[in-house]
Amino acid sequence: MNGKDTVRYGSFGGRHAIVIGASTTGLAASAAAARHFDTVTNIERDSLPNGPTWRKGVPQSHHGHILLRGGQNVFNHYFPGLTTDLLARGSVEVDMANDICWYHSGGWKKRFDSGRTMLCQTRGFLEHYIRQRLAQIPNVRLLQNTKVAGYTASGRHITGVELGDGTVLEADLVIDTSGRNSETPKHLSAFGFGIPEVSELKVDIGYSTTLFTAPDRARDWKGMLIHSKPPATRTAALLPTEGGRWIVTLLGWQGDYAGGDIESFLEWTTGLPIPDMHNVLSEATCVDDVHRWRFPANLRRHYDKMAAAPEGLVVIGDANTSLNPLYAQGMSHGAIGTSILDACLSEQRHDVGAGRIDGLSKRFHRAYSQLLDECWFTSTVEDYGAVSTNGGGRLVSRIASWYLGKITEMTWRDESIAREFIDVMHLQRAPMTLMRPSVAVRALMRASAGAHQVRPARA
Ligand SMILES: Cc1cc2nc3c(=O)[nH]c(=O)nc-3n(C[C@H](O)[C@H](O)[C@H](O)COP(=O)(O)OP(=O)(O)OC[C@H]3O[C@@H](n4cnc5c(N)ncnc54)[C@H](O)[C@@H]3O)c2cc1C
Repeated sequence: MNGKDTVRYGSFGGRHAIVIGASTTGLAASAAAARHFDTVTNIERDSLPNGPTWRKGVPQSHHGHILLRGGQNVFNHYFPGLTTDLLARGSVEVDMANDICWYHSGGWKKRFDSGRTMLCQTRGFLEHYIRQRLAQIPNVRLLQNTKVAGYTASGRHITGVELGDGTVLEADLVIDTSGRNSETPKHLSAFGFGIPEVSELKVDIGYSTTLFTAPDRARDWKGMLIHSKPPATRTAALLPTEGGRWIVTLLGWQGDYAGGDIESFLEWTTGLPIPDMHNVLSEATCVDDVHRWRFPANLRRHYDKMAAAPEGLVVIGDANTSLNPLYAQGMSHGAIGTSILDACLSEQRHDVGAGRIDGLSKRFHRAYSQLLDECWFTSTVEDYGAVSTNGGGRLVSRIASWYLGKITEMTWRDESIAREFIDVMHLQRAPMTLMRPSVAVRALMRASAGAHQVRPARA
């Protein structure tokens, strides 16, 4: 595609959009905005690496990052053929039920050909190849080593951004994808727009991650998840990555964190509810440092509820809502958020006229909040199970958490429920799917029948 060929029928028809941040949400948002604006400027404070490596603006990228199917579909939409490219360069495709040995809340899940695949790779690898694809879109320019220091405003409109060196860039729309520490609330407050209400659920989890090379021997699995049931506090994930390595992330609740060196990392795995992860890692070779991360709380900023929200600004990804990484929704809800923005920009033109921004911000934040309601529910319902063992959590959340436990037990053996569970987890179906009466009756009558206590073989 070149500039002349950029067909934008039905697009919003704006002149310039600014995207703050060139991480996964910012990359998707830039591609989506390019379909609606003459030019898009993506502003990133980091120096972006030329290869598939870690960078300091996304420090969490040392840790295992699953791209859920919902997010993968969006990236493929904006960057056609991305999955094929990634697989050719070393990403590993896994069937969630057949290729992963998954011990969940007291039992091993049955292994079967689910048709539910996902791509595994390191976060730096994923971002690098998406960045390469964004660079091919002619009306997007990327300014790296450039920090956004504030916004400019006129009346009820955000009209652009001020850079660290004092330069002002004007825009019809500013898209904040600057991550969990977004300064948008601070800037809005300074202009008198007020700040969004915040929801928070404290979880206080410690993550530790390192890379291994696997012993050279045949095995019938590609990954392993050991997902404990509260009050147990230890969970672990081993996933394949490019280059034939395993990325292993250990996750401890309530202060039960793995150490920062390989000896204590391995020692910690002896406290998992079953020995399989420890046994596997004991024979593998660690090839990286151990990286640690503390995740304090699920955090949601309700831009959808702001009475005096300004026009010309939308907030997507972690900048809006940052969820417990255990459920791997962060990159995907950001990506899906950008496709919601894309749809809202088309509707806006249809309803209000080309290039007219008034009402877009509210339209978008309302639509995005419906997705975020579901993500928040899926993430926090299990978290409530963990924190409520300490006396926290509302009754309704505890009941939802108890019910989810029953569904989890069903996934040990029931293939159709296991498929639906994976679809909900991958943001392909609404969580309410798992609450319809036919599922509920099965879950409540037959849930705990027969968990595999020995790791099952591939189907
Ligand atoms: C331990 C751990 C494991 C995780 N595992 C998963 C997982 O398996 N799957 C998953 O989907 N998610 C996972 N996440 C969550 C995921 O990391 C985030 O949800 C995701 O990175 C959010 O993307 P984002 O683009 O919205 O923000 P970020 O990735 O935080 O990127 C923000 C970008 O904005 C830039 N920036 C910030 N401020 C400015 C400024 N003022 N000017 C210019 N640029 C700026 C930053 O440099 C950065 O590039 C995990 C998180 C952690 C902590």
